[in-house]
Amino acid sequence: MIENCPECGEPGTMLVYGLPAPPLLRAVEAGRVSLGGCMIEPGLPDWFCPARHRWTDEDLDGRGLLLDEIVAECNAPPPPPTAHVGAGVVEWRAGESALTLVAPGASDEVAPFEPRTPVGEYAFVVSPDERYLALFIYSGDIDAEDHTHGFELFEVRPEFRHIGGLPAVPGRHGHPPVFSPDSRWLVGFVADGYRVRGTDQHFTDLFDKRSGARVTLDWASLRALHLPDQELHRVDVGVEMPVSSYPHEYMDWDTEDAVRFTAGDVVVLRMPWRQEIAVSLPPSAPVTGDRPPTDPYYSAFR
Ligand SMILES: [Zn+2]
Repeated sequence: MIENCPECGEPGTMLVYGLPAPPLLRAVEAGRVSLGGCMIEPGLPDWFCPARHRWTDEDLDGRGLLLDEIVAECNAPPPPPTAHVGAGVVEWRAGESALTLVAPGASDEVAPFEPRTPVGEYAFVVSPDERYLALFIYSGDIDAEDHTHGFELFEVRPEFRHIGGLPAVPGRHGHPPVFSPDSRWLVGFVADGYRVRGTDQHFTDLFDKRSGARVTLDWASLRALHLPDQELHRVDVGVEMPVSSYPHEYMDWDTEDAVRFTAGDVVVLRMPWRQEIAVSLPPSAPVTGDRPPTDPYYSAFR
């Protein structure tokens, strides 16, 4: 194999030809190989270097083996999430109903629990003071109609143990909760419905494209868990919308990275139309945004 450029000596990148299958595409996205095009004809280069020199390489078998290796590396499942707490690492070992805290020079600490949310994907969130650890669990089946997520809460110090959490609740997307800077609040902001405020109706059932009526669409929830007493405060998050709104205007609303704290007890929620709303904790009333009807991004679809 001629892996380095015969002209400048720089390491080469392999060129592959034909229509790539998804596993190979992942290697292309990772920059490990490059697509040479769909046409396969004799004399095409097999490698290129950063200076764009190209060369051919007779070692078809060697390149095939190397390509298999690269594709396998690029398609390996990601390692399971872990959390760093002080000098220790928290793991959720496959099949175990417990978290394990591994610290150098100390024996493992084990915190048994039973997850109350069907386990698809999970992530850890550590409080700033490293006293608490939240294990966020997302049912995670992107094809499922009903997604659920919740979290299990652990105290790391003085003793590593399961202390509670939030049972599974519905939500269209899964985003881990966020700790306040003083570690006294754990806040989740979740797109979880199409409720009409003050009624038990579903917003989409009111659809009438000729009506001028407006109602408040509660499309999300703010859940704030106070620590250490674990008192849960939940309020709806909504916006006034005309009942003539089409579902594509609100069906994709998400809350990814939409929560930040500006103080120990003030959380700022970013609405999908980019408005930011500060909420003092505990929240005392439903949160209501203003959606500017002239927003060019949204009005473009009308
Ligand atoms: Zn070169």
